[in-house]
Amino acid sequence: MDDFRADLHCHSTYSDGTCTPFELYELAKNIGLRGLSITDHDTFEGYIALCNTSQMLDFTVIPGVELSCTQEETDVHILGYSFDPDNAYFREFCRHHREKRIERNKLILEKLKEHKMIVEEQDFMNQERDTQTFGRPHIAQVLVEKGYVKSIQEAFKKYLGEGKPCYEKGDKWPVSEGLDAIHKAGGKAVIAHPHLINRRRIIRQLLELSFDGIEVYYSRFSFTDNQVWQKIAKEKNWFMTGGSDYHGSIKPGIKLGCSYTNEESFTMLKKHFFETAPKYAKKFRDV
Ligand code: AMP
Ligand code: ZN
Ligand code: FE
Ligand code: FE
Repeated sequence: MDDFRADLHCHSTYSDGTCTPFELYELAKNIGLRGLSITDHDTFEGYIALCNTSQMLDFTVIPGVELSCTQEETDVHILGYSFDPDNAYFREFCRHHREKRIERNKLILEKLKEHKMIVEEQDFMNQERDTQTFGRPHIAQVLVEKGYVKSIQEAFKKYLGEGKPCYEKGDKWPVSEGLDAIHKAGGKAVIAHPHLINRRRIIRQLLELSFDGIEVYYSRFSFTDNQVWQKIAKEKNWFMTGGSDYHGSIKPGIKLGCSYTNEESFTMLKKHFFETAPKYAKKFRDV
């Protein structure tokens, strides 16, 4: 019986999700997942916090992160897995990324002001939560709270989405630098939701880089979409991952575990993690 499911793409309160890392673990456990990775934007401090809780966890949660990078002006998200969470260089790399986001958020707030919507940094950065990475979803939430829009979706659709009047690209890292940082920390790098990159030229370039895997199963994509990427992964001899991109109530309709990674890929990532950072093995009951 193969009912193994590991969701390797979700977000916690450390970035723009609405569950804490421990709540994500508990939810995963309740729905019968046997593996998990929390892939917050530009931070894995939530993973470190989860591992610092006193209790043992029933199944392995591997460290993860989602980096927003750019390749010839096109946004490319990279998922990093099974790196050493104590790698100082990578922690610093992510911290620097988060600081760049603060500058980008300021530019977004200026644009909103030009459209007569007043949002201050402290409206979303002063919360009593552990959030480390602030981005458009946090700004969208304030727009809803202040009554400028009715929903987060509307905020993206009218103002914050790509090509909309208050969109700001920000200063992102080239894909090659994101890849390099993940590898330096001993991790594996995966092209996130490739279905969303709709420029063939960019895809061709990415397939020539030193990725280790592709996220072939992703919540909003069809069986046929997935097959295309499975074929590519097989040709490249890259492993295949899957995940929901669960964000909690920020993105209603996407459930944890609706897309997942199989046992073979998860076992490989798990093994790699415990070779890279052996001290973490004592945290999990299934090792
Ligand atoms: P940022 O990292 O600041 O560029 O924001 C990107 C994040 O915004 C994504 O990871 C999603 O969580 C969220 N997002 C993007 N588009 C939408 C949308 N249309 N509705 C809700 N959330 C969205
Ligand atoms: Zn997000
Ligand atoms: Fe993404
Ligand atoms: Fe994501």
